Amino acid sequence: MRTKAIIYLNHFLENLLAVKARIGINRHICIPVKADGYGHGAIEIAKTSLKAGVFCFGIAAVEEGIELRKGGIKAPLLLFSQPHFKEIPAIIYNGLIPYVSDSEFITALNDQAKLRKSKIPVHLKIDTGMGRLGCLTEEAPALAQQINKSAGLKYMGTATHFAVSDSTDPADIAYTKLQIVRFKEALESIKSAGIEPGIVNAANSGAVILHPESWFDMVRPGIFLYGYKTADESKIPGFPFERLKAKPVMELRCTVVLIKKVKKGESVSYGRIWTAEEDTNIAILSAGYADGLPRLASSKWQAVINGKNYPLVGRICMDQCCVDLGAETDVLRWDEASLFGGSAPDAGALAASVGTIPYEITCGINKRVERVNMYTP
Ligand SMILES: *Cc1c(COP(=O)(O)O)cnc(C)c1O
Repeated sequence: MRTKAIIYLNHFLENLLAVKARIGINRHICIPVKADGYGHGAIEIAKTSLKAGVFCFGIAAVEEGIELRKGGIKAPLLLFSQPHFKEIPAIIYNGLIPYVSDSEFITALNDQAKLRKSKIPVHLKIDTGMGRLGCLTEEAPALAQQINKSAGLKYMGTATHFAVSDSTDPADIAYTKLQIVRFKEALESIKSAGIEPGIVNAANSGAVILHPESWFDMVRPGIFLYGYKTADESKIPGFPFERLKAKPVMELRCTVVLIKKVKKGESVSYGRIWTAEEDTNIAILSAGYADGLPRLASSKWQAVINGKNYPLVGRICMDQCCVDLGAETDVLRWDEASLFGGSAPDAGALAASVGTIPYEITCGINKRVERVNMYTP
């Protein structure tokens, strides 16, 4: 096998347990499995979660819902992103639950539902400061009423989304608290219009870690469950909960496909950005940027082979990269090399070294990379 992503499902379950312990037994968890479960394999993540008693998932595209249904997942699927009008029949056929932000789309959903004699459950999404999807807070009661009066729709829940909930910067903490206040006011105005807001949900991973008052009836943590802690509650003095720990779920592993001697003064790979200072051994590894290893990590990262660290040298290519084994080496051809996770530093560290976030690293692991599901170590 050239390159594989090992998915440690037991780590996912441990992260899930940590979230459950944190939020208490009276709240639901919706597990975001959009972008193929942040690159980990949506169907396997969903099946594992179902066995652990979580029964609701978040997706971003109608196609993702169709894939999960084909994979045998019958659980509720919340469609976080705004679909096209043309996708409404597929939403109905696959029983997806859209988040709605505007009157025009509510009308279109209702028309199609009535035509097909079905009832579509929806969540009303309110923009409390993310500045993306969601209605204005002052529009919320009227839209809630429109949903409630629509014979083809069922008002199932009310949601918002945070912009800086993973930050412990005091200004960002204050902004998230402002979003929570605006959300609570909108919920009150919906109730004042005589409508039950249903399952109230807001918290992403950052808010699960840092903002207990945002947990409401259901939380939607993604990145934490996949093993990356993007917020640090220990930076808040007197924080009333124990520090959460996340275990990275993905390891990217490839193979030493060739070991070759490179003489002092010879260069390695495209662009000739690296030249051997001494005679050395170079291992060619079977992973490149087309597998999702960021090209920007060239000369900035390492691979772990048999428990030892070796620096990446030269440019990362589309299908290969190279590490310097040194003049004397016990590495053998066909040994396995970890590029992140497992015994190597995790995708969060790799992300930091190239100026991005772990989400982009794990989502970027290409479908050419085989997913191997495991329950150890
Ligand atoms: C992706 C997403 C989440 C999860 O965010 P994380 O930062 O991964 O916890 C929650 N809610 C919505 C609407 C999302 O799109």
